Amino acid sequence: MRIVLVGPPGAGKGTQARRLVEEYGVPHLSTGDMLRAAVEAETGIGRKVKETMANGGLVPDQLVIAAVIERISQADAARGFVLDGFPRTMAQAVSFDDLLDTEGLALDHVVELKADQNVLLDRIVTRAREAREQGGAVRPDDNHETLKARIHAYNEQTAPLVDYYRSRNILRSVDGLQPVEVVASDVFRAIGQGRSVI
Ligand code: ADP
Repeated sequence: MRIVLVGPPGAGKGTQARRLVEEYGVPHLSTGDMLRAAVEAETGIGRKVKETMANGGLVPDQLVIAAVIERISQADAARGFVLDGFPRTMAQAVSFDDLLDTEGLALDHVVELKADQNVLLDRIVTRAREAREQGGAVRPDDNHETLKARIHAYNEQTAPLVDYYRSRNILRSVDGLQPVEVVASDVFRAIGQGRSVI
């Protein structure tokens, strides 16, 4: 099963990805997590992307594409994957399609989690505050200013992918602002695995 999750920051891609990987037994590939790990480990790539990420911008396509290609060539991704946060630009989407084509593979579904952007701002600011109150780690880009930049990047560079995948007939759209369990049921229904998870 090869699934891509698309949606603005805070729409719940990570949460839904975790359910999908559990259901299908395929790895969860989050480019945000991969890049944060590189920043944390202070690798060459990590040093290059740290500032861009902290400012809410997108890191260069070539760098992310290379990281994804490397990751999906590993044995655990042979049966599929749930991609969260990639592709995020048209250039990434087109290169990724070329790569899949070359390998004789194709995406099964692209799931769009739709969400009103004002609600997203509140959601993420609350998520950061709760994490701080519980003494947990707060992402350096989960603050109001940076979030606005992330939403802007989404609207400018990622939103066009929705039409691209719609035109290829693999887009499934779900309202991401419903309770988590309802979103999960809708996602499974949208990809043809209708069953109640509530
Ligand atoms: P969110 O969806 O909540 O904004 P992610 O964890 O997916 O967060 O990504 C965090 C940051 O990592 C992005 O703001 C961007 O700087 C970088 N990033 C992640 N994936 C990509 C990608 N595919 N292309 C470019 N930059 C990316």
